[in-house]
Amino acid sequence: AGVALRKPDWLKVRLETGESFTHLKGLMRAKTLHTVCEEARCPNIYECWNHGTATFMILGDTCTRNCGFCAVKSGRPTGLDLEEPFRVAQAVASMRLEHVVITCVARDDLEDQGASVFAATIRAIRQLSPGTRVEVLTSDFQGRREALQVVMDAEPDIYDHNIETVRRLTPLVRSRAEYDRSLAVLRMAKEMKPHIPTKSSIMLGFDETREEILQAMDDLRAAGVDILTIGQYLQPTPRQLQVMRYVPPEEFAELKEEALRRGFRHCESGPLVRTSYHAWDQVKSAHRR
Ligand code: SF4
Ligand code: SF4
Repeated sequence: AGVALRKPDWLKVRLETGESFTHLKGLMRAKTLHTVCEEARCPNIYECWNHGTATFMILGDTCTRNCGFCAVKSGRPTGLDLEEPFRVAQAVASMRLEHVVITCVARDDLEDQGASVFAATIRAIRQLSPGTRVEVLTSDFQGRREALQVVMDAEPDIYDHNIETVRRLTPLVRSRAEYDRSLAVLRMAKEMKPHIPTKSSIMLGFDETREEILQAMDDLRAAGVDILTIGQYLQPTPRQLQVMRYVPPEEFAELKEEALRRGFRHCESGPLVRTSYHAWDQVKSAHRR
């Protein structure tokens, strides 16, 4: 509880619509498609869409978990939509995306936690848009190796799983997730497909300390993670956790230096950074080495 902090100026985004943005926006309306970019009201939407990047959420719109930072509807999902992989693939094709990020709600109710739908979505996109880079951001699949293997075998261009926060704050921020289990998932993904870059993200703005952030970086590097993104947590609606601190841009810049020193191949760190922020640059520099 307490009074919400006022948003600092560095979080205000200029509205730059641009041609591709307007085109895609019209397309989305016409086809009633849903992207995370729109639904999460992501501040980077103009920039991303103008670069041909968008994020889709699969496995329905209802999550079996209820993380303290997330505004996705939580509850009991109903069934599984087997047409979803094709719909997403068609959307990616009609948007002519260069880079697509596929993420999901957690489906603890399904035997494979939804892994086979992930794999089907990757394959359907490949079929319709062979030139599009496909990045996946998955749940922890309850740490199940077989589920992760199904996704990795579909050969995404980049594999993401987010630890979201430092070890101590994991029980507060995330639901039914464990810090070490997430690290284990990232480690397994790297072992299964060493050539596929792996990525994780942390949000700042709870009461994590600098020491804890640096420790999280070390832990991710020990799990073989190649790319790190660090962003500011923003409270999506009054029902989620309050922001405890707005981290100034200089501090983000300094953390990026720390990350690169630790051997991450790429790090995006800044107030508006999200998992998929500047994904087009991230993947290029990750493949370069
Ligand atoms: Fe969409 Fe991700 Fe870009 Fe936000 S950062 S607009 S969610 S692709
Ligand atoms: Fe949101 Fe993912 Fe947590 Fe579900 S598991 S509540 S979608 S962050």
